[in-house]
Order: sequence, then structure tokens, then C-alpha cells
Amino acid sequence: MTIERAHATVLQKPWGIVDLQPWSTESHAALPSGEIWFERAVGLGPSPSLLLKVLFTSQPLSIQVHPDDAYAHSIGLGCGKTEAWYILSAAEHAQVALGLQSSLSTAELITAVDDGSIVGHVAWHDVLQDEVVLVPAGTIHSIGAGLVIAEIQQRSDATFRLFDFGRERELHIGHAVAAADRGPVKDQPPSIRVSKHRRILTSNAYFVFERLDLPADSNWYVEALRETWLLVIRGSARVDSLEIAQGEALFAEGECINIHAGKSGMSCLAAYTGSTGPVTHFLHREPRRGFHAKRATASSIAAGAQGQIGSQ
Ligand SMILES: [Zn+2]
Repeated sequence: MTIERAHATVLQKPWGIVDLQPWSTESHAALPSGEIWFERAVGLGPSPSLLLKVLFTSQPLSIQVHPDDAYAHSIGLGCGKTEAWYILSAAEHAQVALGLQSSLSTAELITAVDDGSIVGHVAWHDVLQDEVVLVPAGTIHSIGAGLVIAEIQQRSDATFRLFDFGRERELHIGHAVAAADRGPVKDQPPSIRVSKHRRILTSNAYFVFERLDLPADSNWYVEALRETWLLVIRGSARVDSLEIAQGEALFAEGECINIHAGKSGMSCLAAYTGSTGPVTHFLHREPRRGFHAKRATASSIAAGAQGQIGSQ
């Protein structure tokens, strides 16, 4: 039974940006920041299964691959890494790379990494704000410049770099080639609009990723019984006793949480563990309190509102 504000840590990355607003007011002018990690405060509860991040890019990330669970276990790591991206903002013609344009043999892939032609073999796609990209473990991928992305992933550090665009960071070509699917990716599963207020962005064995859009001054319940993360991407809200605004996140588990959307409404991304698929009644409106609603209407009219209350 937990609900708490997530602790945000800003990480410096060579491909990051300097000004993180409106997502964070933190800045380290001399060093670009590339990631905000949202985590439980140190020492609170067992380690979560998921990791929520926001990424900021001014250059492409490395071309990389994450192992699946089986490969991760075979080299002594706890789990693999499937991840998903939600595009928060995109410069014109900003791109991500997902899979290869056509299948390569292991030898061809190694040659393409050695001579740098891998950059032309990966499948680059323009992306727009509000798009969703699922990156199954084993997919060769990169994120191009000019993007702000919310990422949900299995909580794993297992990243194998194939190519780093001339930066001098370590590569992990042996593991990357062994863990990679050396061909095009399957079609992305479509997102599912459940209602005007709820869209399931993507769902798999590891996590469900959703977007909730709540109108101004409305009241809701969210069934956060599984490990659940919320990231506010627009507006503000009061969640139980916590006030949260754009760029802030919270963690909840074993709770049905109350949300009151602020005066300009609130949109958030929600991610929760996914072994049994999306929660049917994840979001519901607070039951109407008929007696109080009727009484308020009657007293407003009596006070001289001249029927205007009926126009709502
Ligand atoms: Zn990745």
C-alpha cells in the first residue's frame, strides 16, 4: 500500500541538451543532460521491475541493442530489456532507428559495424509528437537528435553498443551481435483508445503503457494495484495528498488512488507491470454524489443564477 512522489535524478550524457524546461528546472550549464530517471527514494521498498525516464537528445544516441531475458540470464544479468517510447516533442524530421532495413548475416553485421555503414543499414523513421514506439529486446535501435522522449523499460542496465558516431565510449560488439535480431522489425501494434480519457499506448508481457487525459476540475480513481508509475505531461493534479505538475512523477502500488485534475486539466503517462495485460477498470470517474450535486444546483438557482447553471 504505497503512494509516493518519485525521486528525479538528472544524468549527464554527451548527446544531451542544456535546458530541460519545462520538464525540469535543473541545469548543469557546462555539461549536457540527457536523461531524467524517476525512482523510488533510496531505501523505500523492494526494487521495482520498471524504470521510467525522460530522454533529451541533441545528437543521436549510440546504435545499440538490449538482450532478452534468456540472453541476459546466460551472462549472469538479472533480466533483459524491452522498452517503449512516447514522443513528448520532436524537431522537424527528427528520427528514430528501429531494426535493419533488410536482413544481414552475422558476418555482414560485423563488417557494417567495423566500416560504419551500419548507420545506413538501420531503418530510420521520422517521428512526431504523441507517437509511440515499442522496442522489443533484441531490436537494433537508436534515437536521433531533436527529441524529448518518455521511456518505460524493464529495469535493466544491459545496453550493448554497436556504434557510437565517433564518440569514444566503449562498444560491446560481441554481445550486441549475439543478442540482436539481424533484420527488419515487425509492424508496431496499434494503440487502443478505450475512451475519450484513456488510450492504451502499448502492452506486452513486461509493462502496459497508457495515456490519460483528464478534464479541468474532474475527479477520478486509478486502480494502481500493480507497480504503477505516473508521469504528468500536461497540466497538474492532486493525487491523494500529493500535488504534481508537468515533469513530475509518482509511484504507487497496492492502492486505488484519487486524482483531482487541476484547473487546466491534466494529462499523464501511466505505466504498470504487464504480465496479465491492461487493467480493465484502470481509470474510473469518481461516483457522482447526487444529493450534494442537487443541493448545490438548487441553492445556486435560488441565489439568483437565473438558470445559467443549467448551461454547463
Ligand atoms: Zn535502448
